[in-house]
This record gives sequence, structure tokens and C-alpha cells, in this order.
Amino acid sequence: MSLFARTQPAPLTRPAEDLPVRVRMVVGNWKMHGSLALCREMVPAMASIAHPAAALVLCPPAPYLGEVTRLATGSQVQCCAQNVADAHGGALTGEWSAGMLADLGCRYAIVGHSERRRHYHESDHLVAAKAQACLEAHVVPIVCVGESWIEHQTGQTEAILQHQLGTLLALSGWRGLIIAYEPVWAIGTGVAARPETIEAAHRFIRSRFAARDPVAGNNMTVLYGGSVNASNAANLFALPDVDGALVGSASLQSDALMQIYTAALA
Ligand code: PEP
Repeated sequence: MSLFARTQPAPLTRPAEDLPVRVRMVVGNWKMHGSLALCREMVPAMASIAHPAAALVLCPPAPYLGEVTRLATGSQVQCCAQNVADAHGGALTGEWSAGMLADLGCRYAIVGHSERRRHYHESDHLVAAKAQACLEAHVVPIVCVGESWIEHQTGQTEAILQHQLGTLLALSGWRGLIIAYEPVWAIGTGVAARPETIEAAHRFIRSRFAARDPVAGNNMTVLYGGSVNASNAANLFALPDVDGALVGSASLQSDALMQIYTAALA
């Protein structure tokens, strides 16, 4: 057996309660920021307002996942990894598996964030394999899709989304995915996409899944990400096909994240 042999994935078995329902969600992606001190400030602050009506999910850097899950135990705050391996185990130094996240009590993993696609050359194929590994371990993958500025300007948004979603639709467990529409040009720029642009993209994403299975497609949770802040969150959450937000920089300030989350509850 090769030194790099990967553990074979377990057969895909998903309990009935994992069938999709649209969930109101706010997901805070800290990226490579934060500290133990931030975990100890943010988790209790968010736990004090988290309510079952909307999921409140924190994505700290991997070294802090244990601390966030520990602090969040018994509260409505959930934990999410920013990345995960496509394999269940093996000689893969520096990686961690979806099963390890489940073991920790970490319920979600972001997969295919544009920063990983860009800086670590993650392909649609690898993103789909990571999503599949999550599904097999009963970790919910939050899969990021979205077009670049040039693609947006040249009217290619739907073609790009169609391509990215095509790989995901090939997964037998696609009904268990959460999708985050993150136009690359709106991430970290301070300028969110216009509401009509967001709604059109979300409707398109939902329609691709609904074409395969209308009930499951219409029940998929589709989040928007890209410069969501305390001022624009309420308008975005009012859009009919937006179920919540993936929030980057604003998720590092508890006041801002609390305001965004409060807007999601309204
Ligand atoms: C993100 O990191 O996914 C993101 C949307 O970042 P920001 O909110 O800072 O644009």
C-alpha cells in the first residue's frame, strides 16, 4: 500500500432528519484572524443572543475550533471549520478530516471559499470531493460559489455558477449542501453586490437544484457573502431567496456580528 494511501470513505448514509429545510443563518468567517481572547469574548457574547429561529455559526481558525466548541457547548452557537480534507484519513500532514470535526462537535465546514480556490488552487473537483467527505461524516458543507469581477462584467455569472454547481449536483448527497453565493469581487471590498444582483444569482442557484428535485431545490439554504455589515444586513435578509449571510471582516467585531444576527432574527 502506498504511503499516501487514503482511508476509504464510509458508505453514504444520511438520516431522514438531514433532508434539507431552509434555515436562517449567520456564519462568521474569521479567516486567519483571532485569538483565544477573541474566542472567549465572542462566544459568550453571541450565546447571549443566539436563538433557535436562526443559526449562529462561528468559523475560527483551526487551532481555535476546540476552544469555540467547548465554549459554545450548551448554547445555540455552532462551530464551523474554514476548510477540511477530501479524505477521511491517511498520511496527509497538515490536513484534518470531516470525521475529526464531527468528533469535536463541529457541525459545519466551509468548502471552496474563493480564497482557497485562488491561493491554494482548489478546483471544482477538489471542492466537490471535500463536500462529499463532509456529507459522509455528517458534517454540513457550506460550499462557496461565485464569479470574478471580469466574469460579472462580461455577463458570465450564470455560466460560472452553472459550471460550479454542476460538479456539486453530481454528488449523490447534494441535498445536504448549504450554498454560499459569494461574488469574488464583493469579498473584502466593503462594497456588497446590489440586492437585485444577489436575488437573481440566488434564484438561479436554487433553480439549478430545483430542476433536479423541486422540493429539495426549493428547500436548499442559500447564503450571501461579500461585504455584509451591520448597515446592509437587514436589506439583504429581506430578499426572498436569501436565507442568511456568510460574513467575513464584520464577524470579528462582536457588536457588528450581533447587529447582523439581530437583523436575521427580525
Ligand atoms: C468571506 O470571507 O467569505 C467574506 C464574505 O468576507 P467579507 O464579509 O469581509 O467580504
